Amino acid sequence: MINIPKGTKDVLPEESFRWHYVERLARETAGQYCLKEIRTPTFEHTELFLRGVGETTDVVNKEMYTFLDKAERSITLKPEGTAGVARSYIENGLHNGAMPLKMYYITPVFRYENPQKGRLREHHQFGVEIYGGNGADTDAEVISLAHTLLTRLGLSVGLHLNSMGCPTCRGGYNEALRAYFSDKLEKLCPTCRVRYEKNPLRILDCKEEGCKALCKDAPKITEYLCEDCKAHFEKLKPLLDDIGISYEVDPYIVRGLDYYTRTVFEFVTTALGSQGTVCGGGRYDNLISSLGGQPTPGVGFGMGIERILMLMDESGVVIPPEEPVALYVATMGEEAYRRGFSLVTKLRAEGVKAELDHAGRGVKAQFKYADKIGAVYVVALGENEISSGVCVLKDMATGVGKEVAIDRLAEEILQSRAEGKGERG
Ligand SMILES: [Zn+2]
Ligand SMILES: [Zn+2]
Repeated sequence: MINIPKGTKDVLPEESFRWHYVERLARETAGQYCLKEIRTPTFEHTELFLRGVGETTDVVNKEMYTFLDKAERSITLKPEGTAGVARSYIENGLHNGAMPLKMYYITPVFRYENPQKGRLREHHQFGVEIYGGNGADTDAEVISLAHTLLTRLGLSVGLHLNSMGCPTCRGGYNEALRAYFSDKLEKLCPTCRVRYEKNPLRILDCKEEGCKALCKDAPKITEYLCEDCKAHFEKLKPLLDDIGISYEVDPYIVRGLDYYTRTVFEFVTTALGSQGTVCGGGRYDNLISSLGGQPTPGVGFGMGIERILMLMDESGVVIPPEEPVALYVATMGEEAYRRGFSLVTKLRAEGVKAELDHAGRGVKAQFKYADKIGAVYVVALGENEISSGVCVLKDMATGVGKEVAIDRLAEEILQSRAEGKGERG
């Protein structure tokens, strides 16, 4: 037997409706905020992520699925959603259209992580990108979208907010960090010693307990922001207040990717017993230019769908079941089966979710199967029903039967559904 690769998961037929629910709400909410979907390939040239995500990040250094294709090109399965969208934006000249450009995506992402931590190597993300909005209002819009969606999904979350400044203020901050860590170098993990030289900000992101403890009293970026970055951050706060989103400023949020500038944020669950980030994002004003496009501000977020489903479970959120099978047509004999087969085809064309036997079962077994798949109604077709053109529509929940002309079955079922019956699940 061949098993599923480590760190991946099947979504089985009985659980896919839960995914549809989250994806539908995500699409609906994004639509109400006037975003359109963009779909980019599952793999890109490795160079895109080296330049876009940053060569000093964990994602690029340790976690990418990179391989040579048959023509010896270095290809990488996308480890996050933003770089591909940025590439597409530049390549397709999307700045020539209506700006700001508001987009969302639902995509698999791949990271070679240790699955023991409950992290998957393939997971799925709902992400949002807005290009061409310079002001803090665009940051507020993106945060509002995430907040609305998480609330609709039944999750209680808190917003943690920070500004990472721009390259101007980052210079002073990096110096302050180097000064702070200079007498702690020996206590830092080997990776952080490299970070100390290359990009000391990343030390704040380290998952090692020893490094985490050393970061507790590190200088705060919020104290090193230049005038423009400070003004941007101060404009964002009242906008969030106005729409009733409370937040906590956390000066140590730096996010795991190099492209962030100014606003960064995380939504964290406040549900009892579970901690952790549900959604993370921020502003990336230099990403497009670093990939060779015209300087264009960007802001967005990503949320992991598996994680959201897990938290919905833990929070006891009840996901509405999918539409039940409206009618099961049981048949007796070959002629009845053929009549049943065309009946089911016709009913489906008329919008009725209908089913019949595909396993050569007897009538009794067909009724059992109808019950197992949760059919709302069942009719049995035999010689009598075919010659009279009338059948008995049996309500499986109550056991009550009603005589209905076979030709009027669709009408009858659609009518009863409109009246709110058939909510079996
Ligand atoms: Zn700045
Ligand atoms: Zn470290």
